[in-house]
Amino acid sequence: MLDMPAWPPRPAICLDCRTLQPAADRCLASAHHRLADLRAPAGRASLLERAWGSPSVRRRIRTAAKVGSTGGAAGGGLEACSGCDGCGLIEAGGSVGEIVAVILVVAFVFVAIYLLAIGVRALWRWWRRPPPVRPNGAEARGLAVGRLTGRPGRVVARGTAPAAIGDAPCVAYALQASYRDRGERVMLRDSVGVGFDVVLDDGAVVEIPAGPVALDVDGAPARAVAPTYAAHLDVIDPQRRGVDDLDPFAATHVRQVVLADGDRVEVRGRLRPMPGAASGAAYRGVTSERWIPDGVPQLVRAS
Ligand SMILES: [Zn+2]
Repeated sequence: MLDMPAWPPRPAICLDCRTLQPAADRCLASAHHRLADLRAPAGRASLLERAWGSPSVRRRIRTAAKVGSTGGAAGGGLEACSGCDGCGLIEAGGSVGEIVAVILVVAFVFVAIYLLAIGVRALWRWWRRPPPVRPNGAEARGLAVGRLTGRPGRVVARGTAPAAIGDAPCVAYALQASYRDRGERVMLRDSVGVGFDVVLDDGAVVEIPAGPVALDVDGAPARAVAPTYAAHLDVIDPQRRGVDDLDPFAATHVRQVVLADGDRVEVRGRLRPMPGAASGAAYRGVTSERWIPDGVPQLVRAS
């Protein structure tokens, strides 16, 4: 009988790789990364600043988004000539050549003024252009799976929880949300498991504890964000409801990899014997029956 455990809490986020973290002391992807506590207003503010810039820049972006594209007012300065004095030259006795010359000069002046107005207007718009409406994404890679071939096996669930996107029951998921605009800017990485076993093909068991996991999500198809992404953000970013500002998790696309009961996987990275489970096998020089990942578990879905 499977139970429904909750996903382990991830109250912090790395400002460099944008990976959700189980604690605000150290990024699991790199000790050099800086973390922010999403539960603290100061922590969320630092993420917002990293994603969109200073409060004044964000204010300009929000104002530009509200106003939209104004303009078009400068184009009406030139009106058609309804009756200029030059027409009276015929009565004044001017020659046809002089009249044509005057008309050409007047036309030239009008065209010159018109082109100048267009140039000034373009320059003014360039000068007053709003800041680019695109966030800054992660500057570093998140949790990665090793390149070396791992040990194949099958997922055996102890309990399941709904996936971040789509609510399918699963034992682990990896979500990567990105903002696409002249490249892909990763805004959020979230990969976690409820705790499960992987029964290897040789009969040994790898125990995956509840907590962060590294899943190979880069190859998953990118889909346009759905309302379920917003629902997921409400869970991981409880402060978002009370803040009138830009969204530090603004994304256009999400990739998700889900591991469910019975899925074939490859366990990569170093394993160590489960404490207390190695006796009886280790001394004979054969593999221990139960293993535990050394560090964050690394899993790749086998196709
Ligand atoms: Zn990091």
